[in-house]
Amino acid sequence: MRGSARRLFATYVVVSLVPVLVLGVLLTALTNRQAEARGLAQARAEAGLVAGTVVAPLLEGRSVSALSSADRSALSEAVAGAVSNHQVLRLRVRDVTGHVVFADDGKIDTRVDDEALEAGQGAVTASITTLNADDLNTRGAPVVEAYVPLYAPGSTRVTGVVELYLPDNDIAAQVRTQRHEQLLVLATGLGVLWLALLGLATRTSRTLRRSADDNAYLARHDALTGLPNRADFASHAANAVASGPAVIALIDLDRFKQVNDTLGHAIGDRLLVELAERLTDHVRDGDVVARLGGDEFGLVLSGLADEDEAVAALARVRALLSAPLVIDELPLAIEASVGFVLVPADGRDVDALMTKADVAMYAAKRGHLGPTRHRAGHEQYDATRLRLVGELADAIASDQLVLHYQPKTDLALGRVNAVEALVRWQHPVLGLLYPDAFLLAAEQTELVEPLTRWVLDNALRALPRLDPTGELSMAVNISARSLSRPDFADEVLEALIRTRTPAPRLLVEITETALLVDPDRAAESLTRLAAAGVRISIDDFGAGQTSLGYLAALPVHELKIDRAFVTAMDTDSRNAAIVRSVIDLGHNLGFSVTAEGVETAAVLADLQAADCDSVQGFFLARPADENTTRLRLEHARR
Ligand code: C2E
Ligand code: MG
Ligand code: MG
Repeated sequence: MRGSARRLFATYVVVSLVPVLVLGVLLTALTNRQAEARGLAQARAEAGLVAGTVVAPLLEGRSVSALSSADRSALSEAVAGAVSNHQVLRLRVRDVTGHVVFADDGKIDTRVDDEALEAGQGAVTASITTLNADDLNTRGAPVVEAYVPLYAPGSTRVTGVVELYLPDNDIAAQVRTQRHEQLLVLATGLGVLWLALLGLATRTSRTLRRSADDNAYLARHDALTGLPNRADFASHAANAVASGPAVIALIDLDRFKQVNDTLGHAIGDRLLVELAERLTDHVRDGDVVARLGGDEFGLVLSGLADEDEAVAALARVRALLSAPLVIDELPLAIEASVGFVLVPADGRDVDALMTKADVAMYAAKRGHLGPTRHRAGHEQYDATRLRLVGELADAIASDQLVLHYQPKTDLALGRVNAVEALVRWQHPVLGLLYPDAFLLAAEQTELVEPLTRWVLDNALRALPRLDPTGELSMAVNISARSLSRPDFADEVLEALIRTRTPAPRLLVEITETALLVDPDRAAESLTRLAAAGVRISIDDFGAGQTSLGYLAALPVHELKIDRAFVTAMDTDSRNAAIVRSVIDLGHNLGFSVTAEGVETAAVLADLQAADCDSVQGFFLARPADENTTRLRLEHARR
């Protein structure tokens, strides 16, 4: 990177010099020509002056063709004076046809110059040459050769031509100094220009190099903690695989999201930074700590080959992370789930090792276990599950989810009083998937939140289509994770407004276990919803261990007895007893009681005898798509 930047810079230095030099050469040529032109203009003026003052007065406008000897000697004398004054070096007079009629040195050259003919036409010419330019042996110093026409007084008729050779000294010297001055300015200007360009290029390339370095750093590091990121971790892991025994571990914080949601991102960030520091301080030189994203960290511990040792080392890491931590005077307790693989015992392919560590980490999380090494048994379930969760986001966005509806029948009225929305995933490859295939996985990720929103919105939109009479309620299942969100109640109320649904027509089904995840938050959300008129149902009741005191304090409208008890009622008297007790319990607390999982007429009769309020089950109706459900309901109304 640095090498190529330097080469690039050197190329720039050379390449930028070329146009500057070309420009220099062109400007120099132009300057020379201008200086010469100025010098010659001056020479023409001087030649005119000499011709006008030395020759013209002697001839008094007469044609030069017939010079008398008196004229010649007068001319010789005058020219000798001018020569001795260093005004001219040599002077000839020619007639209008260009022939020499007088020469100060007496040599009558018979040649006719073009310039002489031009001057015969009235043009003044000047050029730089040398004395005796035609004779290589006697060639002398540089001179200016000029031709000046002579005129008859008061007329434009040319009477002759004066050819004179002026000393070059003054003019040439002037031209030379002018040229030198101009060249100096030019050279300085171009030099400064090139240096300025060079400076600019140096600065730009330094900035570029620095930002390239920054980018290279950022590409491999996490901005918040400064730790290596996932990409960099993968290459450290690859090094570990290449260089002997090591442990590759993935660490996921257990309730980090809750901290983030309740206490804000600033606290969440500080928590992560603090934990990153703890990890970095703890590990030995040569070990790697990375932040893989969100609340996930990665470790490479080199030199460890034994599972027990690895578990012990990672247990210390876990203890380190869950040690009390105070941020802004808030005591925070964080648990972490750790999954790991041993290198090379668990494989040599880095991607596969990372996936295995991830799968082990999920197993640890699900089972509330300590540091867990990957086992073959974790695989099948987790690999498909992980893959499905990966696809779920797109599935929600592209409406691959569908809702089926199962009616709930009021036993006293003998008619359907609600339908429950049950989500399915029309998977493009795997076909129609039921909640047990993807919901548990979704609930462990944030994906369950858009899923809940999607179900809520679509169920409420379907309600008027399913039931134009406005008598039925829509029951929607809410996952624990959604229930623990601080703005859960707001989201539900917004959905009601968006879909113009009267609050009492929504029945929110919360499983007993979901209530227990965060009982205080759940109570708060449910109280707000109930206050707005939404009805609350406790789903799968009997499967969890809700404290009755807690339950009695919640604004509950309905208990739904877990179908495990109901289905087996007619074959197992203990289940029948449980169902009857729950019905009594619910009534005593003022709740309506629904039995789900009614599969036979016998169970239905038992429930009726036990004074159960509503029933739901395959015996009455299986969950079905919207169209079927609508037709069914229409038929029942007739
Ligand atoms: P659930 O809320 O207890 O829903 C009732 C489940 O029992 C449904 O299974 C239904 O098909 C099944 N069922 C109904 N009658 C009978 C019966 O007579 N016998 C038997 N054996 N089963 C019966 P499904 O649709 O597979 O849903 C399973 C669970 O998935 C639901 O249990 C609910 O907890 C969850 N779920 C379904 N849809 C959603 C959803 O949109 N959001 C959330 N968070 N959870 C959902
Ligand atoms: Mg339900
Ligand atoms: Mg249920």
